[in-house]
Amino acid sequence: MAGTRSPLIDAVTYYRDLGVRELWIAESQAAAPPPTAVAAAPPPIAVAAPQPVAVAVAVEPAPPATAPLPTLGELAALVAGCRRCGLCETRTQTVFADGPIRARIFFLGEAPGADEDAQGIPFVGKAGQLLTKMIENGMGIPRRDVYIANVLKCRPPGNRNPEPAEIEQCRGYLERQIELVAPDAIVALGNFAARFLLGTEEGIMRLRGRWGSYRGIPVMPTFHPSFLLRSPEKKKEAWSDLLEVMKKVGLPLPTAAPRAPRETAEPE
Ligand code: SF4
Repeated sequence: MAGTRSPLIDAVTYYRDLGVRELWIAESQAAAPPPTAVAAAPPPIAVAAPQPVAVAVAVEPAPPATAPLPTLGELAALVAGCRRCGLCETRTQTVFADGPIRARIFFLGEAPGADEDAQGIPFVGKAGQLLTKMIENGMGIPRRDVYIANVLKCRPPGNRNPEPAEIEQCRGYLERQIELVAPDAIVALGNFAARFLLGTEEGIMRLRGRWGSYRGIPVMPTFHPSFLLRSPEKKKEAWSDLLEVMKKVGLPLPTAAPRAPRETAEPE
């Protein structure tokens, strides 16, 4: 039929177009229809590198949002049942804090003593009574308006110093307390409070009277009231530190001057 090519010509043309220059065709196959496979390898074909493919992957479900952080009341309940360090074995009860949640000034001591352990309230013994006088008679604000807590929530036996491991175990409670109260200033009473807040090993003698900072909150280190009971001559310096705190938070300054010192002792 005019215009119709033979299958052989079609096959040759096909391979020629592919670039094949020689074909070996058996006689018996000379008239066969174009093969679907040939001995001659087809020219190499440039293969594009595989492209990254967006694949739908089974993704682990997102972890549930972390449990909401405890409120002060919930935190106090957690502390009441805490057994994270050995002090739980010897305490009468935990001593969480005293004061309103939105206090502007946070007083931080070291650990409960015998009176605090018995009553469950911080700074209620002799040192606490002195602190109350410093707050109410000196600074002119009711004790109920400030927040008072300790680094440790349980009394170390015999009023010994807190051990580093105990402080570490108790650390989270105080960090959350400070976060919730969010005071305008913290008064660090003694070595352990100052070192906790300022992350230093320096002693209170060097630290007192100089502003530091804990997570952006101004920290004034000063002497612990129990040290002031033994070293009343240091009250003047402690009073000077409290005046700085009053200035910092914008409280009106009293005009009365503190008493003069008499004797010295090792600070806490
Ligand atoms: S001192 Fe702190 S960590 Fe240790 S048992 Fe008491 S609350 Fe828990």
